[in-house]
Amino acid sequence: MAGGGEGNGVVSGVRVRFAPSPTGSLHVGSARTALYNFLYARHCGGTMVLRIEDTDLKRSDTTHDASILRDLTWLRLQADEGPDVGGEYGPYRQSRRAHLYEAAVDKLLAKGWAYPCFCSQEVLEERKERLLARGEMPVYDRTCLGLSAAEIEMRLAAGEKAVIRFRVPEGDVTFEDLIHGSITFSSDVIGDFIIKRTDGGYSYNFAVVVDDAGMEITHVIRGEDHITNTARQLMLFSALGEPAPRYGHHSLILAPDGSKLSKRHGATSIGDFRALGYLPAAMVNYLALLSWHPADERDKFSLAELIAEFDIEKVSKSPAVFDVQKLDWLNGLYIRELEVAELYRLIEPHLAEAGLRLAPVQREVVTEAVQSKLTVLGDAPDYVAVFVEETDPTACPCADGLLAADSDTLFDLAREVFSAMPSEYLPAKEAQETLRTLVEKAKEQGIKGKALYHPLRIALSARDEGPELFYLVGGLGRSTILARLDEALAYVARYKEANSP
Ligand code: GLU
Repeated sequence: MAGGGEGNGVVSGVRVRFAPSPTGSLHVGSARTALYNFLYARHCGGTMVLRIEDTDLKRSDTTHDASILRDLTWLRLQADEGPDVGGEYGPYRQSRRAHLYEAAVDKLLAKGWAYPCFCSQEVLEERKERLLARGEMPVYDRTCLGLSAAEIEMRLAAGEKAVIRFRVPEGDVTFEDLIHGSITFSSDVIGDFIIKRTDGGYSYNFAVVVDDAGMEITHVIRGEDHITNTARQLMLFSALGEPAPRYGHHSLILAPDGSKLSKRHGATSIGDFRALGYLPAAMVNYLALLSWHPADERDKFSLAELIAEFDIEKVSKSPAVFDVQKLDWLNGLYIRELEVAELYRLIEPHLAEAGLRLAPVQREVVTEAVQSKLTVLGDAPDYVAVFVEETDPTACPCADGLLAADSDTLFDLAREVFSAMPSEYLPAKEAQETLRTLVEKAKEQGIKGKALYHPLRIALSARDEGPELFYLVGGLGRSTILARLDEALAYVARYKEANSP
C-alpha cells in the first residue's frame, strides 16, 4: 500500500489522478470527481495528475478534450501534471501511451499471466448462451489457455486474429475502500478478460492499471460505477508486480426524483452552468458539499477552507441528490460578494446577448441596483432592462397609478429636484440624497408614503415594481427622467380636464 498516515488525514507522497474520457463535455458528476481528487491532493500537499483517457478513438474527440481542460481551469481545479502543463510521467493522453501498454502485455505474456485467444465472437456468443441456459456464470471457458507456443505461432502466421486475455487468478480479491470500507469480490465471477483487442486497442481496465502504476498513483478517487472494475485492476497490479493504489469510490449524483441526473433535469454539464451564469466558486462550494461536510455547520466555504478541511474518509456513501435550489442560493451569496466592477464584467456578455447596452457612466449604479436581485448572472438582462428600455409611463397597464390626488404637484416638485442633478447619472449615494431632497419637499406639501413612492415609481419606470427608487433616480438618466415626468404631467392634466365639472 502506498503512502503512510501522518495524522489529520494527511498522507505523504500523495499522487492522485483525474482521468476523464473525452467523449462529451465535463458533467457535474465528473467535476465532483475532479474536485475530490484536487481537494485530497491539496490537503495532503500531494500532486494531481490529469490523464485524458482517449483510447476509445471513435468516441473521443479533441474538442471535448479542450473543453474539459477549459472547464477545469474555469473551476480553478488546475492539475499539477497533464497534457497541457506536462510533467515527468507523461505522455498524459492514453492515445500516446501504446508503447507502454505493449510492453506490459509482453511482460504478462512472458510471466504466463496472459495468453492469446483465437475464439471468434460467434463461438463465444454460443457458449455464453449455453452457460446462461444452464444457469451458470457466462465466463470465458479458457479454450485457448492450453494452446502450445507452436500452435499459437502457426495460427498467427496463418493470419488468424487473436485477442490477449488476462489469466484471472483464483481466490477472492479484497480491498479496503476509503469510503465504503472492506469490499470482496470472488474471482469465480470474473472470466479471463481481454486486455488487448484484435484491432490492437487495449481494454480500459488494462490501460488504467498500466497508467496508474506508471504514474505512481497512490490514491484513486472515482465514482462508484467503477467499483466492479477495481477487482480486475487489483489482479493486474499484482500480476505486473506493481504496488496497488488505495481506492475511494464516491457515490453518484442523482436527480431529486432518484433517477440518474440527465439533460431532462436541466443543466448537467459545467459548460451549461457557466452559460447560465453560475460562478465557479459557488459550483465548487456546492459540489464539494454534495456528499461531505466540514465539521463547521456553515454552508459557504472558500476553496482554501475546503482544502484545509477535506477528508476523503468522511465522504458519505449515500447517493448525492442534486438540489438546484441550494446551488442557486449559494450562487446568490457569491454574487452579492463581488466587487461591482467585477460583477459588471461578468454580466456584460449576458446583457450583450440580450441586446442591452449600458453607457459607461451608467454601469456602476445599475450594476449595484441589480446585484442583490441576481440568482445567476443570466438573470441580469431581466433586471437591467428597466434602465435602458424605451417606455411610456402613460401607456403602461399601471398608468392609473399616475393619477393619485396630488401627483401633479409631486411631478412638478420632482421635475424641479431632478433638473438640478449635477450629471446625467448619479452614483447610488448621491441619488439617495437627491431622492431624500424630493421626499422632504413633498412632505412639506403633505405628500408622503405610498402617495409619493407609487406614482413616482410609475412615472420614472412605467412599472409598479422594480429596483429601489433611488437606483432609478441614479441609473435612468436625467433626460429620460425629465421626459417621462413631462409625459406624466401632461397625462394628469388631460385627465383632470376631461373630468372637470
Ligand atoms: N476514464 C474513466 C471515466 O471517465 C475513469 C477511469 C478511472 O477513474 O479509473 O469514467
